[in-house]
This record gives sequence, C-alpha cells and structure tokens, in this order.
Amino acid sequence: MFDNLSTKLDRAFKTLKGQGSITEINVAQTIKEVRRALVDADVNYKVAKTVTDKIKDEAMGRDVLIAVSPGQLMVKIVHEELTELMGGEKQDINIKGDPAIILIAGLQGSGKTTFTGKLANFLKKQNRQVLVAACDVYRPAAIDQLKVLAGQVGVDVYSNLEEKNPVKIAQEAIAHAKQTGKKVVIIDTAGRLAVDEAMMNEIAEIKRAINPTETLFVVDSMTGQDAVNTAKTFNERINFDGVVLTKLDGDSRGGAALSIRAVVEKPIKFISTGEKMEALDLFYPDRMAQRILG
Ligand code: GDP
Repeated sequence: MFDNLSTKLDRAFKTLKGQGSITEINVAQTIKEVRRALVDADVNYKVAKTVTDKIKDEAMGRDVLIAVSPGQLMVKIVHEELTELMGGEKQDINIKGDPAIILIAGLQGSGKTTFTGKLANFLKKQNRQVLVAACDVYRPAAIDQLKVLAGQVGVDVYSNLEEKNPVKIAQEAIAHAKQTGKKVVIIDTAGRLAVDEAMMNEIAEIKRAINPTETLFVVDSMTGQDAVNTAKTFNERINFDGVVLTKLDGDSRGGAALSIRAVVEKPIKFISTGEKMEALDLFYPDRMAQRILG
C-alpha cells in the first residue's frame, strides 16, 4: 500500500535534501511534484490542489529557503498537512447506550460482513457483550457468512429467515439484545453492487427506525475515486458518523484514504487490512501520514 506514492514523494524531496542553497523555484518544483504524486495516487484533484497550496503557504511562512535542512522541514510540513487532511486526531466510535446500536452500511462486496465480524471481535476483546444482527434479506449466503464469522470470534448472531423486512429484523435484534443483556448490537445490512434508490431507501428507513448510536459506512479503498463518490452519496442520504476503509492490504493507491475526509467531512474510524478477524486497526491520521511518507 502507498508504495508508489511514497516513492514519488521521496523523489520530490530529493532536490531540497541534496543541496546547500535552494531557490524558490526548487520549492515550487517540489510542491508541483507532491501535487502530481497525490493526483497519481487517485487523490481528488481539488483536494490535492488545496493541500499543496497549504504546503506552499507553510513553506514560505516558515522560511524553508533559509532553513538549515530545507528537505527535512518540507517533509515535516507535508506530514503535518497530510495528517490534517485525514482529520488530525483519531476519532472513536460512540458505544454509549444500553445497548449501543451500530449500523453498518455500504455497497455489496465492500467488506461489511467481514467488518461486522471484526468489530464484534474488537469490542468483545474490550469485555463488551456483543450481538450481531443479520439484516441482509436478499442473500441467505450473507447470513451464513456472518454466522461463520461470529462463530469464529465467539459472539451471538440474531437472524430471522422468516422475516423479509430488514427494519423488523433490526428491531427484533435490539429487543433480543435487551432481553439477553447485550451491551452492543452491530447491524449488518444488505448492499447492492452499485448505488440504487431501493437500497438507499432501505438503509435510510432502517436508520430512522432504530436510531443508531453510530452509523459506519464501509468502503473498498481499491475503488479509488469511486470510493469517494459512493461515500458522498451515502452520506447525503444517511448522514453517517464515520468511514471504514477496507482492503488496504491490496494494491490500493491510497487516494480514498487521503480524500474522503476532505470531500465528505466525516472521519475515517477504522481500516481493514485483510480477511482475518484480527486484521482491523483504528485509524490514526498521523500514523497514516507517516506510512505514506515512508
Ligand atoms: P459485503 O458484501 O460488504 O458484506 O462484503 P464481504 O464482507 O463479504 O467482503 C467481500 C470480500 O472481500 C470477501 O471475500 C472478504 O473476505 C473480502 N475482504 C473484506 N475485507 C477485506 C480486507 O480488508 N482485505 C482483503 N484482502 N479482503 C477483504
């Protein structure tokens, strides 16, 4: 992940790192290369422009031209601006409530069911009583998949194969959680292969009916610019609280990680880096910036 971007950024800093006296032209050239590297990594063009304009202002404001190590100062500035771009501080999910209700939304194949299992595992390890609910009424295989994952991590699953209304299943799951003393319910929902009206109506209706404490939008980072567009559409309809970026173990170019926060104005809260139940991390913008800079 980010290999290409890291290499290109490293190359962009080479001139500034290598010579004693640098000129405004050297700095402008470096910034131009940083912008190109971001765009090549699938960062939304406007976002890349805004962030590099800020890097330029900072570089000038902090007198990079007369700095002892201009290259190091530039790397520091880029690190700070990338961190800021990805939201600055780590943002936690809200698990207050009795039970806390976490709604999982996203396209089919984005990694919702896998993430539901991982989040259940993550919360169980914090000694929380967790119930997962299977609300995909269209694909029985999705319910089986959730049962397998929940079995692996040792949490209970609520499903109702007789019921075809996902809103009802979600409500039943919450009632079941209350009866059985569960403190967190994670609701896995159906997705479609592409955004469509019926899916949006369904997820919006589930959200209205159950009033979740936290709504998480799951998106495949490999889909690049599309990930950002899909996030925008979902956010307009369901006003989610946070993003889960999946498949960061693949050869994702990283653009989604860098653009989503700026375009959608919602924080990334988790990243998923594999199919195993342990392959889940909280999202720390500064650590991600560090990884990008290599
Ligand atoms: P859903 O349709 O949104 O519920 O998506 P699934 O959870 O079924 O995931 C779709 C596919 O992606 C499955 O084969 C998962 O094993 C795989 N997958 C999910 N998350 C990750 C991830 O972070 N990395 C990798 N490499 N594969 C993942």
